Amino acid sequence: MDERRTEERAAELARSFLGWAGQLPAGVWAAPGRLNLIGEHTDYNDGFVLPFGIDRSAFVAARPRDDGRLKLWSRQLGQSEVALADVAPHALEGWVSYVAGAIWAAREAGARVSGLDLLLDSDVPLGAGLSSSAAIICATLLATADLFGLAGDRVTLAQLARRAEVEIAGVPVGVMDQIASMCAERDRALLLDCRSMSVTPIPFELEPAGLGVLVIDTRAPHQLAAGQYAARRAACQRAATALGEAALRDVTSEALEAARGTLDAEAFRRARHVVHEDARVLAAVSALRARDFAALGKLVSASHASLRDDFEVSVPQLDVAAEAAERAGALGARLVGGGFGGSVLALLPSERVPDAEREVTSAFAQRGFDAPVCFTAAPSRGARRLL
Ligand code: ADP
Ligand code: MG
Repeated sequence: MDERRTEERAAELARSFLGWAGQLPAGVWAAPGRLNLIGEHTDYNDGFVLPFGIDRSAFVAARPRDDGRLKLWSRQLGQSEVALADVAPHALEGWVSYVAGAIWAAREAGARVSGLDLLLDSDVPLGAGLSSSAAIICATLLATADLFGLAGDRVTLAQLARRAEVEIAGVPVGVMDQIASMCAERDRALLLDCRSMSVTPIPFELEPAGLGVLVIDTRAPHQLAAGQYAARRAACQRAATALGEAALRDVTSEALEAARGTLDAEAFRRARHVVHEDARVLAAVSALRARDFAALGKLVSASHASLRDDFEVSVPQLDVAAEAAERAGALGARLVGGGFGGSVLALLPSERVPDAEREVTSAFAQRGFDAPVCFTAAPSRGARRLL
């Protein structure tokens, strides 16, 4: 989104806040959703991921209260009120647990929160794999940190945002989404080392290359995802332990091949995905630095094939979407997120975007799948204060 449009949205939200709370907000903050270009199921293996912030954000207008209460309004999901003292693990449900969780996390880190009026408005689609949850948490956390004088670098704030999602919303997520939302930069992807937590911005300039990113939300129901996720994690840990390493991050492709006979077939294939995916992330970084988008596209498609064949987390909708995008001229396409539903990311010449949408839509209709939802995304700035 361009800066003028962002400012207009912030000003409009401030006016809306005035009508609701009877006073202007003390500030307006925004934090983007994210996409992961490559590096899937590598995070919990201490490996590498390469996410970028997108041009869709959660906006938060907020003002301190002094009665220990949180008065919350999400334009998407409605209003709610809760006492600060009642925000605790397992105490809240639904969207309030994310927003109140972010405020709780700021308090845990020492912010002397006295209460808040908070109005939230987000154009990150919910549950489409673009991390609408991290967007609202990061925007709320940054607002709370600013208003109540909590210092901390962006990675520290991202780790607090993760605590909100894990401990209060009760979702066992890694830290990638929050790092991406907090640290994102325009025209950059972020190389995140999930062991050291080092974040390195890598040029990801699509426009000069005439390229775009198309997201295809397959709308496939997320069936079995939780149990399957736990099974994948267990298989990865089994393989690492059998190879005498702390995590698959430490296993080379050669060492894995050499140990093939000693691993069960499932653990071997799961590990092969992770070990090669880590290598693909680093190769993608080199491709980006060389502005070699053809090479990047091949890596993206190889990631999909590996997630489908070795990690076995794809479903027909994801395969059909990736294949249709490639038929329409995508340099590469892959499922993003944990799998078993969710979205496909396709990298393609901008002028091919409408063709790809048509191709995917008709392929879905032919197979009798629910219609997909398509939109484009551009690498954009991370969380910040706007007013
Ligand atoms: P994703 O992060 O991939 O979009 P999640 O299931 O992790 O999907 O997060 C979606 C949840 O985050 C929603 O069910 C809701 O509780 C919360 N959420 C996201 N956006 C908003 C919003 N604009 N207003 C209120 N809650 C939101
Ligand atoms: Mg989420």
